Amino acid sequence: MHEFSMMCALVDVLKAEIEKNNVTKVNEVIVEVGELSFLAEEQMRFAYNTLAEDNERLAGSKFTFESVPAEIECQECGRVGDVDYLGEENHFRMPIIKCPDCDGSVSILKGRECQIKNMIAEVGE
Ligand SMILES: [Zn+2]
Repeated sequence: MHEFSMMCALVDVLKAEIEKNNVTKVNEVIVEVGELSFLAEEQMRFAYNTLAEDNERLAGSKFTFESVPAEIECQECGRVGDVDYLGEENHFRMPIIKCPDCDGSVSILKGRECQIKNMIAEVGE
């Protein structure tokens, strides 16, 4: 399960931050997830809640999922824009990772991230 292994890595980062900052209780964790990472919100939330249960400072905290739209830049013509998809809405769709104007190859500027944006927490003495 893709989401669960990603979430394990994120929770490890959180635990390190908790230790470093002497956090006593985490209230909310905001995670930024790129459109092209293909991580589903419900599975991420489930994985988070499961992992957070085992840590008394994370247990009961709110999980906020922020989706980051993809952005690509054409290497040929310099066009910057969002990503088109093959396939129908509400089905599995393949992103088209090439320029819609000139068919040139593109680099992905945004949309692959999966990272902690913010942690709202109470800090001890
Ligand atoms: Zn182009």
